[in-house]
Amino acid sequence: MAQVYDRVALIGLGLIASSMFWAIKRAGLAGEVTGFARSAETRATARDIGLCDRVCDSAAEAAEGADLVVLCVPVGAMGAVAAEIAPVLKPGATVSDVGSVKKSVIEAVGPHIPEGVHFIPAHPLAGTEHSGPRSGFAELFDNRWCILVPEGADAAATARLRALWEGMGSNVEEMDAEHHDLVLAVTSHTPHLIAYTMVGVADDLRRVTDSEVIKYSAAGFRDFTRIAASDPTMWRDVFLTNKEATLEILGRFTEELFALQRAIRTGDGDHLHAYFTRTRAIRRGIIEAGQDTDAPNFGRTPAKKG
Ligand code: NAP
Repeated sequence: MAQVYDRVALIGLGLIASSMFWAIKRAGLAGEVTGFARSAETRATARDIGLCDRVCDSAAEAAEGADLVVLCVPVGAMGAVAAEIAPVLKPGATVSDVGSVKKSVIEAVGPHIPEGVHFIPAHPLAGTEHSGPRSGFAELFDNRWCILVPEGADAAATARLRALWEGMGSNVEEMDAEHHDLVLAVTSHTPHLIAYTMVGVADDLRRVTDSEVIKYSAAGFRDFTRIAASDPTMWRDVFLTNKEATLEILGRFTEELFALQRAIRTGDGDHLHAYFTRTRAIRRGIIEAGQDTDAPNFGRTPAKKG
């Protein structure tokens, strides 16, 4: 694959940035990748494992002279990082991000972008419950969607960023920020909130039933615990910044839950059956679209007995 940028800077060196680095290297998409993380510990780890061609001691040092700077920090930290790098940005460079929420990132970062620098927000719809510089891997974005939110940005700069994400294995779609935040509230943010709640409820119950909740946790609950293990800082910021859309979807969720509760109370089996038939079809659609596997136990190796 051809090189897309001479120099890429990754600010924040966690799951997403480290996966980007390995995916960029896998396909030779950049001449040099610089990186910065706020803690000395993360920078030392990055140097140890060869994450980035050059690990810098400030965000400005990493961003200086870069053709593309990608902000890979929690959504609530994007504005401060943008302010820090703004003075050193090269004319004609592109600033992007990988934040899970788009409207608030645009509001926080946009005002710091100097004249002559392109700002093209992005969001790779790929992740795991792990975080930190050691958690990344080159295949994370393979066959996953990456949403670009150019909102009138330069077409050539957008095409170049698209080429980078496609080179890292993603399928790329463009969307406006408001639509992105609503779609993600449905597909990711509210489900995470529900998983956090369910695991919290089970934890309360565990005090009553001792360790049974863990011992007998079948796929349903185990899937919730995996989601609920996601990074607390990242998810706190997602809910604080995608407030409107999450509350809208949560409202609808609550209404549906009450309807199902009523169906259970009144013994309305037809309602339950029809509902579950509809949701089953959605699962089939996801598998047909290649976004998950229908292998037994979701392709996992069986858990050890114990
Ligand atoms: P991560 O593994 O937790 O890494 C976060 C990085 O940001 C770390 O290098 C951390 O530095 C740095 N950081 C944390 N707080 C900061 C602050 N206040 N100021 C400056 N730097 C700070 O996170 P991630 O999963 O890669 O997520 C990064 C971004 O990608 C987030 O905006 C998230 O919404 C988005 N995203 C995540 C996923 C996912 O599933 N994880 C998927 C798509 C998009 P230290 O290591 O020095 O603490």
